[in-house]
Amino acid sequence: MDLFEYQGKKWFAQYGIPVSDGDAVTTVDEAVAVAERIGFPVVVKAQVQVGGRGKAGGIKLASDAAETRKHASNILDMDIKGHRVDVVWVEKASDIDEEYYASFTLDRAAKLHLGMLSAQGGVEIEEVAANDPDAIAKIHIDPVDGLTEQQCREWVAAAKLNPKATEGAVDILMKLYTAYVDGDADLAEINPLILTPDGRVHALDAKVSLDDNSVFRHPEYKEYDATQLRDAREAMAHERNLQYVGLEGSVGIIANGAGLAMSTVDIVSQVGGAPANFLDIGGGANADVMAGALEVINSDKNVRSIFINIFGGITKGEEVANGILAALERVDIDSPIVVRLDGTNADEGREILSAHLSDALQMQPTMLEAARKAVELAAASSGGGK
Ligand code: GDP
Ligand code: MN
Repeated sequence: MDLFEYQGKKWFAQYGIPVSDGDAVTTVDEAVAVAERIGFPVVVKAQVQVGGRGKAGGIKLASDAAETRKHASNILDMDIKGHRVDVVWVEKASDIDEEYYASFTLDRAAKLHLGMLSAQGGVEIEEVAANDPDAIAKIHIDPVDGLTEQQCREWVAAAKLNPKATEGAVDILMKLYTAYVDGDADLAEINPLILTPDGRVHALDAKVSLDDNSVFRHPEYKEYDATQLRDAREAMAHERNLQYVGLEGSVGIIANGAGLAMSTVDIVSQVGGAPANFLDIGGGANADVMAGALEVINSDKNVRSIFINIFGGITKGEEVANGILAALERVDIDSPIVVRLDGTNADEGREILSAHLSDALQMQPTMLEAARKAVELAAASSGGGK
């Protein structure tokens, strides 16, 4: 889950990382009230999950209430690269001497955490990496050993920050590492991390991505979940507790188990088709789950055929078959369905389905044949519209 800047800054603050005093608001009047509370000058910042907000006019300095009003009313409802601004963050403006970059993320290939620090901050790190890769000091951290203050100092020295920033940077990086690990983040980035004229170091921006699978350890993360950006299909699937990823193709996929769902996406591609989604219905293939899955896929106007690929395990073949039939009575489906049913009591399940087969509901004995049939049906009906 990706946090907005205002959420990231509150998350930082919980770990003692210095951020500017501020608040998130949704109206112009509230923006002015926040500015008057914290004192001028303030910065009004568009809350969208996209970089380059400043260039797009989404970050403005205001020296009094009238300016705050003007900027907040311009920024609220602004469109930044296709993202509408619903929330602005108003914070105390900072004086900046230098802008740095700092982040922790996971280096999956190395199976280690990766810290990156650069004296060239304020610009996208990809840009620094392309133009001047030596300007990024990297550190690999074994998650078992953690990051010691000594290692952190050496890392800061390697990044050649202004010596005035050393103590502040070490302090913030140690806290950022704790936040990243204890807070179960996949990414914790500060860009820019600033040095002020009076020698303080602090976070002027926050980009944080949290591990969705850690919510059980952090019940408060549910609040972030509520503000996640999802397309209409993803929102529908999320409401139904389905593991769903929307793709661009025309073959809708329902499978039980993430491994089987991935294989199904692969095999559809392999036989020349394009998957419309990845959907894992998990262990129970009962009528409720199946109906929910079919509703989500049916709402995707690119879908031309639906491939239901089930390997019965604890859920027996006849329960799966009855689940599919019951779901079809509840949901009007616009595309032909191809079922492949295998595993526990597959014969019993197939027997039940075979009494109901038609052009709209077909069955194939193997995954490969079912994939071919689904792709063929999608191709036959494409261009026809729905
Ligand atoms: P992003 O470009 O969308 O990542 O937005 P940032 O929050 O990183 O801000 C972009 C730039 O705006 C920073 O690199 C600063 O140069 C400038 N900026 C943001 N806040 C302040 C502030 O309080 N004072 C000053 N002087 N500049 C700021
Ligand atoms: Mn930034």
